[in-house]
Amino acid sequence: MALFNIVRVQSACPRCGATANAEVQFQYGSTRQNSYDVGNELQWGAHDVGERDLSQVVVDGVAEVTCTRCANPKDVDFYIFVTGNAIEKVEVADGRFDFAKSGDTYIALK
Ligand SMILES: [Zn+2]
Repeated sequence: MALFNIVRVQSACPRCGATANAEVQFQYGSTRQNSYDVGNELQWGAHDVGERDLSQVVVDGVAEVTCTRCANPKDVDFYIFVTGNAIEKVEVADGRFDFAKSGDTYIALK
């Protein structure tokens, strides 16, 4: 089983729009089941995925979002933007990046 990290975010429920907490799974940096918040620097040094020196990267992420209002768990894809080795922001994926095409869990933007 592949290991992954998580970043904790708040996201709108895809069904009713209420704010829900989500733990977005991703593989970038050291993949030792690290837990991050937005703004944290990524750790490296074990089971590394990607390249630490890249200045701006978007990483493929997925979370099961369970809404407190409608209690409807849904898998949601996310983009995790890493700038200067820190998690800058996390957005709901809109299809503009194609990780299947890149064949990797991340795409270098710069
Ligand atoms: Zn909902």
